[in-house]
Amino acid sequence: MIKKVIKSKEEIYNDVLEVYVNEINKNPEIVLGLATGSTPEPLYKKLIEAYNESKISFSKVETFNLDEYEGIKKENEQSYYAFMNKNLFSKVDIKKENINMPPNKEEGIEEYEKKLSEKKIDIQLLGIGSNGHIAFNEPGTLFNTRTHKVKLAQKTIDDNSRFFDKKEDVPTEAISMGLANIMEAKKVILIAIGETKAEIIKELFSNDNISEELPASILKKHEDVTIYMDKEAAKLI
Ligand code: PGA
Repeated sequence: MIKKVIKSKEEIYNDVLEVYVNEINKNPEIVLGLATGSTPEPLYKKLIEAYNESKISFSKVETFNLDEYEGIKKENEQSYYAFMNKNLFSKVDIKKENINMPPNKEEGIEEYEKKLSEKKIDIQLLGIGSNGHIAFNEPGTLFNTRTHKVKLAQKTIDDNSRFFDKKEDVPTEAISMGLANIMEAKKVILIAIGETKAEIIKELFSNDNISEELPASILKKHEDVTIYMDKEAAKLI
């Protein structure tokens, strides 16, 4: 059962911030599942502000990220490691040893899965791809998939090319948490902002179907998931 919240972008990020501030203060050792891309950026800005105002501390927080491009070096500014460092980790008091990033190659998958199996993600933050992917689980991904190597869909490469100088520079493969990992999180927060998400949001809510062709539809089986949408993303529902 998905709880839908349709509000302005500003209200959404304030609401979600409030959830994080409350949950981190309730459980300072909380395990957060984090995401990259345009969607989480405003939330990370607000979390940094809350930290600077001493409303929260990350000193005992542990994090796991959803995905990382294959073969990309940590130092590359396009790596999701670099994104997280720039947009959150370097600006708060999180301990390095409590940060878990997916590996940039297949060989590290087993170790990442082992770390994940020792913890339970309390809140998993998600965006949604315009093709319905969550993390880099592209349409057709089996629901029982755990952390795995993926070939990015052409739609994802096209969408992500806005972050790169040239489309050819976008990596074509990645390591991603699987849908089974995401479903194990205790609470899921998905944020969809803007018109580019309207079609997929319409498809997601147009029926009760749960289909591997629309990876985000697996969330209909999760017992604590909220999808926050601004008016543009929700305009077709
Ligand atoms: P975005 O990406 O946050 O940059 O829109 C979402 C996604 O592809 O999952």
